Amino acid sequence: MNQPPLIGLDVGGTNVRAARLERREDGALAIVARRQGSVRADLSPTGVATTCVQLIDESLNGLDVSSAVVGVGLAGQLAADRDRVLNAPNLGWRDVAFGSLLKSLLRGAKVAVYNDLSSIVWGEYRAGAAQGFDDLLAVYVGTGIGGGLILAGQLYEGFAANAGEIGHSKLPGISARCGCGQIGCIEAIAGGLALERRLVEDRARGFLQGTSEALNASHVERAVAAGDVYADALWTEVSESLSLVLANAIGLLNPRGLLLGGGVLDGCPELRRRTVEGLAKHTVAVAWRGLEVVAPSLGADAGPMGAAMLALSEHR
Ligand SMILES: [Zn+2]
Repeated sequence: MNQPPLIGLDVGGTNVRAARLERREDGALAIVARRQGSVRADLSPTGVATTCVQLIDESLNGLDVSSAVVGVGLAGQLAADRDRVLNAPNLGWRDVAFGSLLKSLLRGAKVAVYNDLSSIVWGEYRAGAAQGFDDLLAVYVGTGIGGGLILAGQLYEGFAANAGEIGHSKLPGISARCGCGQIGCIEAIAGGLALERRLVEDRARGFLQGTSEALNASHVERAVAAGDVYADALWTEVSESLSLVLANAIGLLNPRGLLLGGGVLDGCPELRRRTVEGLAKHTVAVAWRGLEVVAPSLGADAGPMGAAMLALSEHR
């Protein structure tokens, strides 16, 4: 076997997922081992790196780590060299040279770090629902809102590796402050965390009664189906805002595919339906024509697969 061991990692604020990939007889890369570990107990860079090393060792099952190629998708903003993590709010990190740290613990393995959404988008493009879409806009509405771009078959990361911050597109009339510190971001009304905060306030004002559970987007989705007027108006507002931001980006880029994913959109088909309906209305006709809207198909495998594939392309 002359292919080096290939590992992909997805590092979030709760868990690390690791996968080992091998090339099948038909030439495609496929996952042959998966591991997952919690990082909740120790979110320090060394603690997270140690968890990564353990999961990598388990995935390798005796293979030599020093010859491995390791791609890491990480939820954070990276420096242009992609070694340093400038800001990872979920991990509580600022200016951490995570790539070097992990490499030093892996006895010379080749390590490359990417933004988590870039990894996910690349995974879906190379092995999932977005295969064949050489011009692709991906937008994931989960806790926050993130974006990724494939342009002419290449991952587009921008000059400082931070392209895709579509969640911080501004709209008039949004007064809540966003996690980025600014006012007017779409994420501050349509991101899952922002929605949950708003639902707490609105329940105190008398809306969405009937359950004592902490409210989230799924509760709104169910209330819309049950004919709740408040929930219906909220989904109209959120879908309209999302579709305006997406329509502007589609007009700018003229992608062939729009990959819409993330926990909020995956779990709320009515919100998704209204958002796509709004796109048909707001997107300039020449860019709407021929555009395909798709949903992710790889689930939690997309991040580790994409990170591994990106790292392999750098270290061939
Ligand atoms: Zn923002």
